Amino acid sequence: MLTNSKVVSSLLRKVIQVTLGFCKISSTPKIICHTKMKVKLLPALEDNYMYLIIDETSNQCAVVDPVEPDKVEEAIRQDGLNLTTVLTTHHHWDHAGGNEQLIKAVGKKEVVGGDSRIGALNRKVTHGDELKIGNLNVKCLFTPCHTSGHICYYVTGPSGSEPAVFTGDTLFVAGCGKFFEGTPDQMYSALVEILSSLPPETRVYCGHEYTVNNLKFAASVEPDNRRITERLNLAIKQRQNGEPTIPSTIKEELSFNPFMRVREASVQQHVKQTDPIKVMGALRTEKDHFKPS
Ligand SMILES: [Zn+2]
Repeated sequence: MLTNSKVVSSLLRKVIQVTLGFCKISSTPKIICHTKMKVKLLPALEDNYMYLIIDETSNQCAVVDPVEPDKVEEAIRQDGLNLTTVLTTHHHWDHAGGNEQLIKAVGKKEVVGGDSRIGALNRKVTHGDELKIGNLNVKCLFTPCHTSGHICYYVTGPSGSEPAVFTGDTLFVAGCGKFFEGTPDQMYSALVEILSSLPPETRVYCGHEYTVNNLKFAASVEPDNRRITERLNLAIKQRQNGEPTIPSTIKEELSFNPFMRVREASVQQHVKQTDPIKVMGALRTEKDHFKPS
């Protein structure tokens, strides 16, 4: 009996651990419909997002950063999709770590990325390179800084309508990735010169669910920015309901993301710098030490 009750309590502990572990992910899959394109958001690991980009006309699809290949395979099977392409934003294991297993399971596919350290890579791309997912157009944007080979993928329908950008760990909702292999001027170029010039309605699909903490930092930089408070209140509600806060749009990012706003007087005053690249560096250093309440 004693042994049995030990077994039962150990099993119970495991169930509780698994349940708690699952709760930590706490995002449900979500489908966002563009006109000719569907984006299926798949939560992975603790706070990562993988995405299926689906061309509704041909049923062909690409997957972005398939770190949990089993979940990707299941989603593809469920929807009867034809996976043609793996788009990898950067080589970090929580983005590229599932490439080899996925290819083993589903067979040879085009594996795209901008860094030779990416597993199963067979198409190395650079800035401006273009490819297709069925009738959808994909343009590669080279945005080194978080890693030296980081690529964002800009996707549009056949007529260029309802654009979307998959930003990995370069641009997050209201934030940006750490500068592991790059400099403030590279992140300035990525965020202010490249991503800010996309159409304002472009939907932003990023690599992690960091929105609430990012907006708390944004509020500390610009306490009088009403857009930050509004988006923070919404993000808190979304997270309490287990919903992703993704996507945002480029227009929204320009209104509340301090790293996109380094030319604004209010952001410059906060870090006591006027050169936008110095502002970028100062903000990143401050964010690296920021403890949200
Ligand atoms: Zn990363």
